[in-house]
Amino acid sequence: MGQTILVIEDEPSIADTLIYTLEKEGFEPTRVATLLEARELLTVRSYSAIVLDVGLPDGNGFEFLKEIRRAHSTPVLFLTARSDEVDRIVGLEIGADDYITKPFSPREVSARVKAILRRTGLHPAEVASRSAFIVEEDKRTIRYRDSVLELSRYEYGILSLLLKRPGQVYSRQQIMDHVWPSPDMSLERTVDTHIKTIRNKLKQIADGDILITHRGVGYSIKDTH
Ligand code: CA
Repeated sequence: MGQTILVIEDEPSIADTLIYTLEKEGFEPTRVATLLEARELLTVRSYSAIVLDVGLPDGNGFEFLKEIRRAHSTPVLFLTARSDEVDRIVGLEIGADDYITKPFSPREVSARVKAILRRTGLHPAEVASRSAFIVEEDKRTIRYRDSVLELSRYEYGILSLLLKRPGQVYSRQQIMDHVWPSPDMSLERTVDTHIKTIRNKLKQIADGDILITHRGVGYSIKDTH
């Protein structure tokens, strides 16, 4: 089975070229022209990589990447025609893995897709199965398999942060900086307290401990499928 690539591009001629090239290289591309369609697909399955246009009819690729990162660590390759967008991709830590400027050659696209897949080093079987967690940002809820977790505001903030990059260790300070509106006013042990309650809630619905404590360093969440 080839590796699956979700292509989000509204311009038919560019999408055609991408699909043709990726199929020729042995990938299994899926094509959508809107974020709405992409969102629907990403809730039911995951892909080895995502090729994402910046300007789409129903939204902006940058915003969509943030959305993707809440639930998936899938490598994302931006397509862009503008140099100011390139600056943004490179300058901001928005979690893009690479970018391609239009116009591009088919050869360049397949080379870049192969390169990000090599770098991220995920096995197709792993990326093909979806995460056991689903973060619904608009409702501020997190589901684990079929259960909705009852989370306080800070618990939601912490868990959704950890889920952006399963396996990555976040320090207490990083957690506070991301989750607390005024981190200076909080104490690191406040993070520990919230972590404890999240862990207890997870224990009731999940097998084993999926929230990991790295002593003296911080916390991470296991990559669950
Ligand atoms: Ca476009």
